[in-house]
Amino acid sequence: MTGMKANRRFTVRTVVPEEIGALSRLATNLRWSWHLPTRRLFESLDPKLWDEVRHDPLAMLAAITREQLLALAADPAVVAGVAEAARSLDQYLNEPRWYQGLGTDAPAAIAYFSPEFGITEVLPQYSGGLGILAGDHLKSASDLGVPLIGVGLLYQAGYFKQSLSKDAWQQETYPLLDPDSLPLTLLREDDGTPVRISLPLPDGRVLLANVWRADVGRVPLLLLDSNVAENDDAARGVTDRLYGGGGDHRLAQELLLGMGGVKALRAYARLTGTPAPEVFHTNEGHAGFLGIERIRELMDASVTERPLSFGEALAAGRASTVFTTHTPVPAGIDRFPRSMIEHFFAGELAPGVPVAEILALGAENYDGGNPDVFNMAVMGLRLAQRANGVAKLHGVVSREMFAGLWQGFDHDDVPITSVTNGVHVPTWVDPALAELAREKFGADVLNGPDWSKVYDVSDADVWALRRRLRTALVEDARARLRASWKKRGAADAQLAWTDAALDPDVLTIGFARRVPTYKRLTLMLRDPARLKALLLHPEHPIQIIIAGKSHPADDAGKKMIQDLVQFTDDPEVRHRIVFLPNYDIAMARTLFPGCDVWLNNPLRPLEACGTSGMKAAINGSLNLSVMDGWWDELYDGENGWAIPTANQGTSEKERDDIESAALYELLETQVAPRFYGDLVSAGAGAAGPSQPSGDGLPSHWISMIKHTLAHLGPAVSAGRMVSEYVQRLYQPAAEAGRAARADGYAATKEFAAWTEKVRAEWGGLHIEHVDSHGISDEPQIGETIQVRANVNLGGLSPDDVSVQVAYGRVGDSDELSDTRILTLDGVSELGEGRFQFTADLVIDRSGSFGYGVKVLPRHAAMANSAELGLIATA
Ligand SMILES: *Cc1c(COP(=O)(O)O)cnc(C)c1O
Repeated sequence: MTGMKANRRFTVRTVVPEEIGALSRLATNLRWSWHLPTRRLFESLDPKLWDEVRHDPLAMLAAITREQLLALAADPAVVAGVAEAARSLDQYLNEPRWYQGLGTDAPAAIAYFSPEFGITEVLPQYSGGLGILAGDHLKSASDLGVPLIGVGLLYQAGYFKQSLSKDAWQQETYPLLDPDSLPLTLLREDDGTPVRISLPLPDGRVLLANVWRADVGRVPLLLLDSNVAENDDAARGVTDRLYGGGGDHRLAQELLLGMGGVKALRAYARLTGTPAPEVFHTNEGHAGFLGIERIRELMDASVTERPLSFGEALAAGRASTVFTTHTPVPAGIDRFPRSMIEHFFAGELAPGVPVAEILALGAENYDGGNPDVFNMAVMGLRLAQRANGVAKLHGVVSREMFAGLWQGFDHDDVPITSVTNGVHVPTWVDPALAELAREKFGADVLNGPDWSKVYDVSDADVWALRRRLRTALVEDARARLRASWKKRGAADAQLAWTDAALDPDVLTIGFARRVPTYKRLTLMLRDPARLKALLLHPEHPIQIIIAGKSHPADDAGKKMIQDLVQFTDDPEVRHRIVFLPNYDIAMARTLFPGCDVWLNNPLRPLEACGTSGMKAAINGSLNLSVMDGWWDELYDGENGWAIPTANQGTSEKERDDIESAALYELLETQVAPRFYGDLVSAGAGAAGPSQPSGDGLPSHWISMIKHTLAHLGPAVSAGRMVSEYVQRLYQPAAEAGRAARADGYAATKEFAAWTEKVRAEWGGLHIEHVDSHGISDEPQIGETIQVRANVNLGGLSPDDVSVQVAYGRVGDSDELSDTRILTLDGVSELGEGRFQFTADLVIDRSGSFGYGVKVLPRHAAMANSAELGLIATA
């Protein structure tokens, strides 16, 4: 490195004249990123400059000249436009919305923790699906009026920018961000000094952090930033980049996110007078230490008047915590050496909280677990009374994946539910589509359930819009392709072909996502000759636009990108298949709407949910996907195509062979003919792709577009997702939290003591005998039998347990299906701790019928009878 480096940098913010002073506020509230009129307003100030600053309002205000600003301030039309935008923002921020109709006992505030947030390309603090989802969650919460507060880290370099070398190897750069030039506000004490979060590290070191606030509509997002002068170099670097490094660095990031995040929330509430969060929602294991910080608070005599014991603090914290797991890939879960956790907590990080208890929370003390490892997801599940996966299938997979924590339970009974992800419609619907919808049906049609209005749009209008979106994508892709080739060393003279790369009338297939191996970027290359034939088909050609970043440490992913790009470099096909470097939100917003088909071919069931296909769907693209993630529950035969999956147990190679062959087959015999179908008969057999002529519209395809918009629109919207979180998880968690806090934590203390007793006594409990009484020789539907279970409760009482009979159909190997549960609530004492439990069971179906008896702990403070992981079966 040569030349002098600035050791201090700052950005001078423009002083905007008073007449148009609201522009500053409009530029810092990120509502502009999904509110088209606000974006249009900034664009109208200077369209050329708007493109130069890459559609970043704050950069626009920094770049615009003083003279220009004065001229704008003197223009009544501009002044009126700014005033109108400011009025609209104020109304949006203050008016009652959906949540305000829920009543006064809805949670006063909810904290949402995530290691990444993808809100706009202007704030590149995301790497992929998890971040985009978190951004969409915040935006939809804002739209619904949910009092959410986001908590994350501010990375100096965010995620890397991707380019390609001449030989198609991924190159990474990490441009540094200057927080002063981002839409952020530093959180300050009343005296103006920055709020400082402080975490004591081992060896007497301290990790300090600033807190920045981003305004996502109505939702504040707090981002902790360790790049402060008082930190030593290592501490300064803790938030250097997203998922950077490993070991200590990663652990320090997660401690700052979880524990520092709670401290930041406390400072925010103190300084703004806003209510403390009643619910803590932690996304993936990364933020799990928030639970330790809350336990620390509850055990600390300087924070609470009557400090709780560890067990009580754990119970109180769990009641109001929601944990969402986002990956079905065990390798995707954070694990640290146990010794590292021990080392960090040996000091003053969580004084008063026993280190052995912390270690126990992350221990893999189940079959197949590793005793030397501290597992963040396992801790997340133990610290949260409510947990969920992110699609129905992912719920099933998660219940299986974490079944070790619930030994003795059927997988179906593992207490992890699911809330299917969604996407923020105003962010991801193309402006052209939004405008068409607004013109025809009024402003709010895409915010409500009324997507079925699309059936009132003519086929010709739909098809014209699709072509417009495809054309915009082709133009954007050509520009990116040219730029990429120049980076790879090509001269302009060699690049004339890029002007004609891709064709706005050819069936366009999109594939863009991160490049871990399970997503199988290169499945389409399995049979290169077959792919080539599809691309170059004389009547039904397809074109494919591909993008995605590989994790910097993942050479297998980079090799896949290289293989793919080298295929696309072939002059014979390079006009029909392109790889666009640096997939990000900006690219995505043109890519999803412009594709006719969105391709997704992960190894089932490794895609937790996937959201890019949802973003394509709300723009009228049809999905062509393996039955994984959200598609497994929302594919209905008319909204796209399902790529069949090979049987479980097939080797990986065979799977790829079978599934790629199925993909080619679908493209060739279903997808392409349907796209061109009606057109081919209308076009007079001209060479090259068939052109629409007359009214030869592909009516079946267009009906699939309408069906997709009408049915998937409401189902995949993040509004649906956030309202589900509120009703199914946040509200019950807040209620449980309130019950736990009431009367000086009276119920918590009782529950914690009870839990301890039940855990200690459970080993002494056993079912001695089960029988049924009154069963006839040839039982018939409607007959009643009495089920009786004699249970030795050891030191427990009948009130402590629920004795249940599970009954239903019996399979060949005695397993029950279509199971129902009946509680044996008749109790009689048999002496010496033994009790008989009884209930009358009505046989309600024919065929093989069976039942089994189980005993579970029972307490009003439990959200689920499986939550303690205790069960006894006959
Ligand atoms: C939607 C989106 C993702 C996530 O896509 P998946 O289908 O969940 O893999 C990643 N990156 C960007 C830029 C996105 O817009």
